Amino acid sequence: MARLDRPGPHGSAAEVRTLPAALRRFLSHPRPPVLIGAVSAVAAARSARGPIRRRDVGTAAACLCAQPFVEWAVHRFLLHARPGGPLGSVGYQLAGFGHELHHRDPANLDTMFLRPREVTAGAAAAVTVAAVAPPAVGTVAVCVGLGALAYDWTHFLIHTSVRPSHRYYRRLWHGHRLHHYRNERYWLGVTSPVADIMLGTSPTGAEVPVSPTATGAARAAARAAARAAGETEEAVRRT
Ligand SMILES: [Zn+2]
Ligand SMILES: [Zn+2]
Repeated sequence: MARLDRPGPHGSAAEVRTLPAALRRFLSHPRPPVLIGAVSAVAAARSARGPIRRRDVGTAAACLCAQPFVEWAVHRFLLHARPGGPLGSVGYQLAGFGHELHHRDPANLDTMFLRPREVTAGAAAAVTVAAVAPPAVGTVAVCVGLGALAYDWTHFLIHTSVRPSHRYYRRLWHGHRLHHYRNERYWLGVTSPVADIMLGTSPTGAEVPVSPTATGAARAAARAAARAAGETEEAVRRT
C-alpha cells in the first residue's frame, strides 16, 4: 500500500493552469490511477457476465439521477463526520479525518484524492458483487465507481487554477469554493448542484454566516482565486 500511496509532497493544485496540464497531473499523481484501475476491474467483472441490455441502460439512468443525492449525503454525513458517538467516530476514521485535512489546506495534493486504502477495499467488494450478483447489480457497482471517478476529477479540477469557462462548471466551481471558504455545511455537491438546490443547501453566499473554519487566510486565498478566474468584484466580495 505504501508503494501505491507515496506520501509526497505532491505539490499544490493551484500550480496547474491549463486543462491538459490538469489531466497530466491527475494521471501522474499516485492516487487517481488506483481509482481508474479499480473502476476498470469492476467494469471487466461486469462485462464478463454478459452484454449490456436495456435493463442495464435503465439502471445506469437511475444511477445518474441518484448521483447528486448520493454525493450530497456522502459529503454531508461521511466526509464531514466528526468524532462523537459510535457512528461519528467510525465515519471520522474512515473518511472524516482525511477530508478535514483537505479543508485545512484545500489545494494540497497530498490530501486531495480518495485514498488507495479505501479505493482497493471498495473495489474488492464491488468486483465480488459484479462477479456473483445479478448483472444489473454489477451495473450499479460500475456506476458507483464512475461516480467516484467523476467526483475525484471534478473536485481536483475545481482546486486548480484552470479558469472556469462553461456556465455549468463555473457554478460547481463557485459552489465548492463557497463550501470551503464560507460555510462547509452548504454547497455539498461537487459534480452537480441539483441536490443542493433541492435540499436547500445552495443559498447565495451572503445569506450564510462565515463558519469559524472558513476565515482569515483561507478566505483571502478564495478571493484571490476568484479574481484570477475573472469573477466580478461583487462576486469576489461575496466569496
Ligand atoms: Zn475541496
Ligand atoms: Zn467538505
